[in-house]
Amino acid sequence: MKFQAIKGVRDILPPDSALWNRVEQTAREVFATYGYGEIRLPIFEATELFARSIGGETDVVSKEMYTFADRPSDFLPPPTFSEIGVYIGNLKKWLEDGRIPSDVDNKLRIVSLVQAWENFSSKPQGRMLDFNDLVEVDQMGRLRDGVRIGPDLTLRPEATASVVRAYIEHGMHVRPGNVKLCYIGPMFRRERPQKGRYRQFYQIGAELLGTSDAAAIDAELLEMLLAFFERVGLKGATLYVNSIGDKNCRPAYVEKLREELRKVKDKLGPDSQRRIETNPLRVLDSKVPEEQAIIETLPRIAGNLCDACRTHYEKLKEELALRGIAYEENWRLVRGLDYYMRTTFEITAPGLGSQNAVCGGGRYDGLVELLGGPATTKGIGFAIGTDRLMLSLQEAGVGAAKGGLDVFLAWFGAAAYAAAVPLAKKLREAGVAVEVPAAEMKFGKALNLADRLGARYAVILGDEELAAKQFTVKRLGDGTQQKLGEAELVTYLRG
Ligand code: AMP
Repeated sequence: MKFQAIKGVRDILPPDSALWNRVEQTAREVFATYGYGEIRLPIFEATELFARSIGGETDVVSKEMYTFADRPSDFLPPPTFSEIGVYIGNLKKWLEDGRIPSDVDNKLRIVSLVQAWENFSSKPQGRMLDFNDLVEVDQMGRLRDGVRIGPDLTLRPEATASVVRAYIEHGMHVRPGNVKLCYIGPMFRRERPQKGRYRQFYQIGAELLGTSDAAAIDAELLEMLLAFFERVGLKGATLYVNSIGDKNCRPAYVEKLREELRKVKDKLGPDSQRRIETNPLRVLDSKVPEEQAIIETLPRIAGNLCDACRTHYEKLKEELALRGIAYEENWRLVRGLDYYMRTTFEITAPGLGSQNAVCGGGRYDGLVELLGGPATTKGIGFAIGTDRLMLSLQEAGVGAAKGGLDVFLAWFGAAAYAAAVPLAKKLREAGVAVEVPAAEMKFGKALNLADRLGARYAVILGDEELAAKQFTVKRLGDGTQQKLGEAELVTYLRG
């Protein structure tokens, strides 16, 4: 059997990984100059955390999450049928103690299992099992496997919910000033794989949590984001901004939108038709060509904002102007997750085809309260799709800075080998990347390999060099050659 990475996930190999590392390190550095510290989060969390924060009607929660039932290590189901009676007794106890999930589904499964067991064990003991008995045993096995004895967990589809969970869990609201956190890592969504869209993808994100919702905070976050894109060499990025109102003005707008959409329902595709009732804002996201002209005629949020939201949005635009940040307004930018309010934004980059959003984010003032934290905490954040950023950078020919092999240390003879090993260690200590062949090679083959490995220099060490205490150093780019003593060699290669 030949194993392959499953569809939608992939390996990131050297030398590409060097560019990934550089980009991620640049994010840490740029974000640190704005006061952000890195938070390392778990890869899985309680399913309920994502359902509650992202919203049950979103695509992410309703169809894209990787969810599994956990099982505590001390209550494993019995591997053999003979112990099932004891196990069923335990299940009833655990359910009463609240140690296993007590939702209706799980209770029903446990009750069915108990009944099946009582029925089976009430029959005379010690007889030959007949076909019906086997069917019952098989059914009990299935019921046993269907009982959830641990909480439902989900591989994180995004990290804002986790950051907010951690902020609340660690009482971070008592920290002075705004709490500024950034994260880097993989996210998981069961999406249809295509260029720029994967089932395991990576994000670099930042979140700011604090008691102020000043538009200056939103603008500074965007300034930081653009500073990062500039530093990594991304060209041609466009920033789109919008305001989607808050709980005072959005519900009325959503209702108005729904009414208008009902009037044109027949002209819309199945996804948009469904969203009229579940999440009408998402219709504005539609990319279906036939729907575009209709969407243009729909009422726009800008004309329906309350005073506070309108002022916030105006202030945001002033703050962006103050910082010399170019942007375009896009009234259809609603974003896919429920928790956003007021400021939403997205950044697109060239070279990505239809999946051209490299970053999305917005303000989520009610989320901390929704997850059980202080009602006074407000928040804003973004997530950059690292895979797409990388595609765009590679398309534009941006490579990793220096990296790879500096020196191929070609040795000839046992005495040379004994000198090569400590020399390689010394060079590596000085930060020089060195390759030492593990077995002696012919001169021509050694130099050929050095070339193919992309080494910048070959250092040649044979009897002649040992006797003279001088190494031959050949620059592989142009073939020039010189002899250097050990101290000079270290200085020369480090430079
Ligand atoms: P979201 O968390 O949905 O707001 O997405 C933020 C950014 O993550 C997007 O702009 C994309 O760049 C990236 N992203 C989201 N989903 C995927 C995916 N399935 N594959 C690759 N990148 C993604």
